[in-house]
Amino acid sequence: MQTVYLAEGSLARIPQIFQQLGAVRTFLVVDEVAYNLSGAAAQLRQFLPPDAITLFSGFEPNPKIEDVQRGVAKCRAADPDLVLALGGGTAIDLAKMIASMSRHEESPRDIVLNGISLSQGTLPLVAIPTTAGTGSESTHFAVVYVDGQKYSVADPCLLPCVAVVDPELTYSVPPRMTAATGLDAFCQAIESIWAVGATDESVAYATSAATLAFEHLPAAVNAPTPESRHAMSLASHLAGKAINISKTTLPHAISYAITADYGIPHGAAVATTLSSVLAYNFGVSKSDCADERGTTHVRQRLLLILDILKAATVEQACHQIEAFVSSLGCNPTLASAGIQTDESLRVLASRVNPARLSNNPRMASQEELFSLLQGRKTVSTGSRRDIVPTKATAG
Ligand SMILES: [Zn+2]
Repeated sequence: MQTVYLAEGSLARIPQIFQQLGAVRTFLVVDEVAYNLSGAAAQLRQFLPPDAITLFSGFEPNPKIEDVQRGVAKCRAADPDLVLALGGGTAIDLAKMIASMSRHEESPRDIVLNGISLSQGTLPLVAIPTTAGTGSESTHFAVVYVDGQKYSVADPCLLPCVAVVDPELTYSVPPRMTAATGLDAFCQAIESIWAVGATDESVAYATSAATLAFEHLPAAVNAPTPESRHAMSLASHLAGKAINISKTTLPHAISYAITADYGIPHGAAVATTLSSVLAYNFGVSKSDCADERGTTHVRQRLLLILDILKAATVEQACHQIEAFVSSLGCNPTLASAGIQTDESLRVLASRVNPARLSNNPRMASQEELFSLLQGRKTVSTGSRRDIVPTKATAG
């Protein structure tokens, strides 16, 4: 079970949290820019005696195994009572791996490459997000790159025991980063609704998250208010809780190569294919349905997304998504991002992560992926009336 403090000023709870956990010595994993800009550094210095802190920073976006190894060595030497993570997804994911892998004899590289279970558990981990995006503070997995290859480490012990979500820490995040991280939360929520791994519980989290982000992200980017920042912190946290159960799907699976090859930030990269995949998934049929609950069930979930987007048809829903992404100053399609030659699209299609693909409700061949990436929105069932499930078509 995780304890969550989500409110303006909740960072001030740190002394109380330390007391409850009986912690004195801290291993602090921080994104230094966020640490200083957010005002967290100044606040934490009041609470924590400097000689009780070991600071770990100096890593690049997207966690690398070398950073985990460096962190594990430093953490073992410091022998802390707890690990405190402060930053975006990279800092929190690194902290998850450092807190658990420092308790394991095997090297981080071996643990990741050989899928060694984290049976020795973890040091207590407190996560403090400074972006409203990944929701990493509420998931039990962490992303790490080994020799340029992306891996996802999953273990129940990776879920931080405490999450401190203080929207005030996001006030200084610039518009472009607010857009990209907020889009990550929005896409995670939308994908979570249609995911094969979705449950009623995850769909409830995801529906709230997507609704909040759709309503408040444009303001958080273009004219931020405390209200829009709060809504996005909550959306991000709930989207994290949703994918913690359901995991992500096709737009995420495609996005990693887009980020690696074209340098488009994670959330913005995911958003470039979201409307195409929505249209594609609406065309689900008995022969290509990956969800054993059947096509009627999948369509019911997709109708929820139409409700969130206030759209009557699939075409309208796709249009709504693209207008939403554009309003944030991001590219709503691959073509608008300048990725449109057949050759580059075929390369992208060939690099899709199969594990994430299998969680998409409609299966896709390489050829189907290629035409989806071309932006061809071929849906067999266009209007809401057509897709409302009936008893006769159940399953
Ligand atoms: Zn994501």
